[in-house]
Amino acid sequence: MTQKFDVVVIGAGPGGYVAAIKAAQLGLKTACIEKYQDKDGKIALGGTCLNVGCIPSKALLDSSWKYHEAQSGFAIHGIEAKGVSIDVPAMIARKANIVKNLTGGVSTLFKANGVTLLEGHGKLLAGKQVEVTAQDGTTQIVEAENVILASGSKPVDIPPAPVDQDVIVDSTGALEFQSVPKKLGVIGAGVIGLELGSVWARLGAEVTVIEALEKFLPAADEQIAKEALKTLTKQGLKIRLGARVTGSEVKKKQVTVNFTDAEGEQMLTFDKLIVAVGRRPVTTDLLASDCGVDMDERGFIYVNDQCATSVPGVYAIGDVVRGAMLAHKASEEGVMVAERIAGHKAQMNYDLIPSVIYTHPEIAWVGKTEQQLKAEGVAVNVGTFPFAASGRAMAANDTGGMVKVIADASSDRVLGVHVIGPSAAELVQQGAIGMEFGTSAEDLGMMVFSHPTLSEALHEAALAVNGHAIHIANRKKR
Ligand code: FAD
Ligand code: AMP
Repeated sequence: MTQKFDVVVIGAGPGGYVAAIKAAQLGLKTACIEKYQDKDGKIALGGTCLNVGCIPSKALLDSSWKYHEAQSGFAIHGIEAKGVSIDVPAMIARKANIVKNLTGGVSTLFKANGVTLLEGHGKLLAGKQVEVTAQDGTTQIVEAENVILASGSKPVDIPPAPVDQDVIVDSTGALEFQSVPKKLGVIGAGVIGLELGSVWARLGAEVTVIEALEKFLPAADEQIAKEALKTLTKQGLKIRLGARVTGSEVKKKQVTVNFTDAEGEQMLTFDKLIVAVGRRPVTTDLLASDCGVDMDERGFIYVNDQCATSVPGVYAIGDVVRGAMLAHKASEEGVMVAERIAGHKAQMNYDLIPSVIYTHPEIAWVGKTEQQLKAEGVAVNVGTFPFAASGRAMAANDTGGMVKVIADASSDRVLGVHVIGPSAAELVQQGAIGMEFGTSAEDLGMMVFSHPTLSEALHEAALAVNGHAIHIANRKKR
């Protein structure tokens, strides 16, 4: 007999699994379809983020940072650490364990909340029927009142550098190296390229990042991006801007990359090459031709602000739809859609999705950049505070970077918080909370911040917006 559900979710990444759990919590009979298999051939939940994205990359970033600190950050504290070495397979195994724990945790949550897991490939048919094809080829059809498409994204490939997952790898392959490459090339200076480049640079690889654009981190505030380029370059990353890869050749376990920049044709040889030129939506065999769901010109599933597709009762969330390809954006869309299906009037605030790059120092922001606001003709006041003046940052010997708060010049409402520095992601979240409640810079300035904390840098930057900082000289009023 055909199984019927109130909600069927296709994909169990941070968009899909969160949507499924939320829907079940709201009393809806919910199923979630997932096909991703781990190395043991078992279905693993959690999508890109848990299996080959956010979590494993942060595990390696944390391991490699500890190694880097032991190598060169301890001496200043008077700690002698001789003979420090790195066991790469052990580091990779630790990462795999974390992934296993977390993906297993999602299965437990499904059971605890009564979400039915359907293993296999999901395809939306006409009339909100969904076909599930198991690994052995058998199919079943389930019926749904509502369907949530959450099929995610995968790495973009470029013809000049075809991925073989041996010498030329994508982000997934770059999480699996069993030794430190001597020379590592990275195509693309986006979030993923910089994070993975940092991991291997900290472990001793000589890293060159080849980026087609002239401008570094164009989405970030220009002042922060400039500081980031300076800092990462000082750390040893060779960042070649305005350099477009045109070809590559793999020979004897090495790859020669051809690219063009302002000086003409260039060539570099690496032991490994990571292709990190962006991600694209996954819609392969997801939609039957008569299911009625439209796509946009870039291959994303077309949705409105509430994630409704062109078919009533069919929604799409996460990386497969417009907007930032971020796990927290996917999850919040999942919650919004589940609540709307349950009859609530949930909305999501797309203006306050924080962005983070987990380099060291971290780079994070929420709201608008100074250049965006200028282009929109909004008059602003800006306050900055350098970590070099923070007692807590000095204690930790981590004084690079700054906090920048941008507020509307007439209302004082905070419109952007931008941080490069220690724990930037956590600091920016404080800005995001304030901004969600419409905080002014003065409000933030009037709050009591614990001393000594890194958060005090946010306090001081907010005070600096109106020339009231205590621990740095304020800019003279013009
Ligand atoms: P996905 O996580 O891609 O999940 C989609 C799931 O659907 C997959 O499990 C897939 O197998 C399944 N699926 C697809 N089609 C079907 C089908 N037809 N039938 C059944 N199942 C199907 N984001 C952050 O916010 N913070 C970070 O620090 C961060 N770091 C990242 C690091 C790396 C290296 C990468 C690659 C990404 C990172 N991201 C990060 C991005 C983040 O992983 C994605 O934004 C997020 O996973 C998107 O969630 P999703 O649920 O939309 O899709
Ligand atoms: P993101 O989209 O943030 O993951 O970043 C991917 C980066 O890769 C972008 O900044 C692109 O400009 C860059 N990129 C794309 N194609 C090429 C190429 N052929 N050579 C060098 N950089 C590229």
